[in-house]
Amino acid sequence: MKTLIRGRVLSFHADPAETDDSHRFWDNGAILVQDGRIVAVGDYGDIADPQAQEIDHRPHLVMAGFIDPHIHFPQVQVVAAWAAELLDWLNDHTFPIEAQYRDPDHAAHMAGAFLDQLILNGTTTACAFGSVHKASAEALFAAAESRGMALLAGKVMMDRNAPDAVLDDAQPSYDDSRALIERWHGRGRLEYAITPRFAITSTPEQLRAAGTLATENPGMAIQTHLSENHAEIELTLQLYPEARDYLDIYDRFGLLGPRSLMGHAIHLSAREAARMAETGTRAIHCPTSNLFLGSGLFDDHAMRAAGVVTGVATDIGGGTDWSMLATLAEAYKIAQLRGRRMHPLAAFHWATRGNAVALGMEDRIGSVQPGRFADLVVLDPRATQAMRLRHDKVDSLMQELFILQVMGDDRAVVETYVAGRALKPTAAAGG
Ligand SMILES: [Zn+2]
Repeated sequence: MKTLIRGRVLSFHADPAETDDSHRFWDNGAILVQDGRIVAVGDYGDIADPQAQEIDHRPHLVMAGFIDPHIHFPQVQVVAAWAAELLDWLNDHTFPIEAQYRDPDHAAHMAGAFLDQLILNGTTTACAFGSVHKASAEALFAAAESRGMALLAGKVMMDRNAPDAVLDDAQPSYDDSRALIERWHGRGRLEYAITPRFAITSTPEQLRAAGTLATENPGMAIQTHLSENHAEIELTLQLYPEARDYLDIYDRFGLLGPRSLMGHAIHLSAREAARMAETGTRAIHCPTSNLFLGSGLFDDHAMRAAGVVTGVATDIGGGTDWSMLATLAEAYKIAQLRGRRMHPLAAFHWATRGNAVALGMEDRIGSVQPGRFADLVVLDPRATQAMRLRHDKVDSLMQELFILQVMGDDRAVVETYVAGRALKPTAAAGG
């Protein structure tokens, strides 16, 4: 069966920060979908198909679904936890909540809630940390599979400096990760991500085990945290006195490369940035989290100038908003504080195709092009009274996007398609 999704269609094929020829926009556009994939995109008159079931979203904008490359599944109930800074926040709030994901029933219940929140916010792919428990990753993969979502996830590896209820050991963390890889990696649209939480909570033996997993599974994603705040960096360097800097710890264990995602990456030396560029390692900006925990101001301009590919993410639950629109708003403000101005086209590229590039998945998701999965979001720039009032003065796509970026959240998401299926929960189900 074919579906024709009508709307004002925007698609990126390149980064607006790098070229003027970055996107296509069809004011009377349509996307033809068959078997979960985009077959054609263009002017409605050119691709209308009498065989297709037509869904008319005009006058709303239709674009590739958002991608969230750094988010914590077991932190659904950690958002807005009152704490001084990162290390207190982890010990006082996060670890006790994550301990509950040992229970497979709790993990399964929260996996549904987690994916519903992503869909409600127009996010169609995420790269997620689980808890230390194998059951957490099992539950999340099963829930994503039933929704047909492209999801990357991994069980967190952590064997020190946290309560026993959220710790494993080097060998069991390797064994559990390996079992999860065998069961889930490459199954449908699912991918495993090797997930050492960060250097503070891993012994050298455990980082070695993570490195072994990376060697045994070439091209597999690796996710962790890097240089989020000063107290964290100080403790990290005490734990690894032989390392020349924070990044060097991961480097020594073979954890850098084009599929390695470093959350935060705020306080880096020039050497670290250069080494990230040299190895292709990605930096993932988490603006609402960095502001909420007072961690610091990511310097996207400097990272790009150094040749580092960057992504932008919510980092729920250090992050405060599930919406990639709200996330882009805070990224804009952080750039302002850095003396840089982010163009709305560059922002929307970043949250879609840009994050697909960061994940190495731009051949499958992140743009509205034939052959890509029909993972789409439908956005209404007039979703609230305040947005409607503001929208009356709009006379360009750029302004319309900027309203969505600065004023938008889940209320602006009209529908979310995953592989061509409308998945947004109804008001009754979604609350
Ligand atoms: Zn994080």
